[in-house]
Amino acid sequence: MKKILIIGGGIAGLTAGIYAQKAGFQSVIVEKHSITGGECTGWDRKGFHVDGDLTGYPQDFAFQTEKLQVEDEQTDMISYKHYCYEPAFAPVGKSIMIVYFPAKYQWWKEKKREQYMAEKTKLGEDVIKGVEGRFPELQGKIRVLDVATPLTYERYCGAYKGSWMSFGATPKAKQMIHKGRIKGIKNLYMAGQWLMPPGGLPSALLTGKWAIQRIK
Ligand SMILES: Cc1cc2nc3c(=O)[nH]c(=O)nc-3n(C[C@H](O)[C@H](O)[C@H](O)COP(=O)(O)OP(=O)(O)OC[C@H]3O[C@@H](n4cnc5c(N)ncnc54)[C@H](O)[C@@H]3O)c2cc1C
Repeated sequence: MKKILIIGGGIAGLTAGIYAQKAGFQSVIVEKHSITGGECTGWDRKGFHVDGDLTGYPQDFAFQTEKLQVEDEQTDMISYKHYCYEPAFAPVGKSIMIVYFPAKYQWWKEKKREQYMAEKTKLGEDVIKGVEGRFPELQGKIRVLDVATPLTYERYCGAYKGSWMSFGATPKAKQMIHKGRIKGIKNLYMAGQWLMPPGGLPSALLTGKWAIQRIK
């Protein structure tokens, strides 16, 4: 029976593990973190919830707000997603809301700890102000706040430079699918979000499956 060593237990590695088992290979997954899942890992901040049921709110929404500072730039748009449809994320009648902005790894990396924490706090406060400005009925109901930067994703998910979807689309970007082989290196098959734009879960899943299918 062929033996396969899978390095990394993210979605690509776990998918490769499933397909390896299905194909009858003997496989082992090694993961450097204490839990698997990579960027698809969840972590708990005592519920991380808004104390109110957001079922009636648009699930994925962007709205205009007063200007707020994000890194060195100003924006007047806030985009959010909420997760009322997933009862495992928060107790019944409560929800998690995620507000997201494009972020630069280096900008956060260069900050000393105190400044880093101060920037996170300020951004969190400004976002709460923006959300409560748009939805006054939520005022005072945000119970737990967590501000995650690229450094957070690097620390908790092992994500390269805190990137959460691998490729950034630019006008000059080309479509490229890496076959997951490196010339001259035998028996190495790569998988993961970095092999195929736009990255994300579909690329991780597909390349994990293909890596196993490429093994003769
Ligand atoms: C907040 C957030 C939201 C997202 N939302 C979406 C979404 O809506 N839709 C979507 O499609 N995608 C989304 N993504 C992206 C998606 O989660 C990732 O593209 C996908 O999980 C990447 O899987 P992967 O297996 O390629 O890589 P990773 O998840 O990075 O897995 C790599 C694994 O390898 C491990 N590893 C690295 N080096 C070593 C080593 N030397 N030895 C052992 N183990 C090692 C790492 O610890 C990690 O567990 C989101 C990501 C984040 C963070």
